[in-house]
Amino acid sequence: MLNHSLRLGRIHGIEIAVHWSWLIIFVLFTWSLAVFFFPPLYPGWSVATYWIVGAISTVLLFASVLLHELSHSLVAEAQGIPVSSITLFVFGGVSSIQSEPRTARDEFLMAIAGPASSIVIGVACYGLMLILAPVVPETVVAVLLSMAIYNVILGLFNLIPGFPLDGGRVFRSIVWAITGSLWRATAVATTVGQVFAYLFIFAGLFLAIAGSFVSGIWLVFIGWFLNNAAVTSRQQAELELLLRGVRVGSVMTANPPAVLAHTSLADFVEHYVLAQNVRAVPVVSEADGRILGLVTLQEVRAVPRAEWSRTTVDQVMVPANRLKVATRDEPLVEALRDLSAEDLNQLPVVDRGRLVGLLTRSDVIRYLRVREELGQRAA
Ligand SMILES: [Zn+2]
Repeated sequence: MLNHSLRLGRIHGIEIAVHWSWLIIFVLFTWSLAVFFFPPLYPGWSVATYWIVGAISTVLLFASVLLHELSHSLVAEAQGIPVSSITLFVFGGVSSIQSEPRTARDEFLMAIAGPASSIVIGVACYGLMLILAPVVPETVVAVLLSMAIYNVILGLFNLIPGFPLDGGRVFRSIVWAITGSLWRATAVATTVGQVFAYLFIFAGLFLAIAGSFVSGIWLVFIGWFLNNAAVTSRQQAELELLLRGVRVGSVMTANPPAVLAHTSLADFVEHYVLAQNVRAVPVVSEADGRILGLVTLQEVRAVPRAEWSRTTVDQVMVPANRLKVATRDEPLVEALRDLSAEDLNQLPVVDRGRLVGLLTRSDVIRYLRVREELGQRAA
């Protein structure tokens, strides 16, 4: 999530970042405000004033999205669910919340916090605008008005009951409370999410044909985004439910090949890569068997071939302190999240500093296949 983004800092231990797509939105929003929104409402400003007020408003709108996401995150943290980062995107923000809420009530509160705070901020800005209008310059009134409108739209848009939007989460929590089943609630909420997505797409196509081409295409685009999000989050939720209760230890490859620290790259290639057909091998200490790092073909390739007999694996390996590792008792879902968040192919599994296994993507896929076959036979 943080790969294509600019880090801004930390609030309350949560990393805040902006996705590059927000830079496009910054230009688009400033332009729309400066050229289309402000001039008819506040005629007579200079061109520079429209653009400066447009840019200031856009930065504040960005702060509004951040406040919306922070509201979700602070409620999540209050429920004991850690939040590692918030990334701001085209359509708002994404909080990287590290596990699913435990109860329907927790999910309801976490989901409603964002839209509620946006609507409160919007209404407060509107009230402030009415109070201050007689005494402050028109430019300040303009900024407050754009904040009021944007926050209310942000709150209402997110209340659309299409999972994974906030409204969809609120809806899922209600179905969850009624049926008692998170699985069924997820299926219902994502299906409703897709229905909304298609409504957006059809309404957009209709508008585009009827003449409002740009608004129509916007609606189609939002619908397409909502549909994708619904499908991905259903798959993600189903995977997490399927793997619930499964520990790393029962899926990993136990006693994987490991290479001693002072093995030369030439020996490593001959006896491991070619002989055992492995691409990533943990490096262990000769003295006490502790894991020191991980060596992959990528590190070997960075060294000229002529140096392979004189270079040892511990000179080129990724050292243990920069390595993501798992433990046997760790929930598989958490290890999988580490694998996909960092785009890794494997996680060494470590017990008190010693290597006990290796968890690879193919281990997980094989496990899921076996589960599926067993499930089909049982059905
Ligand atoms: Zn939200």
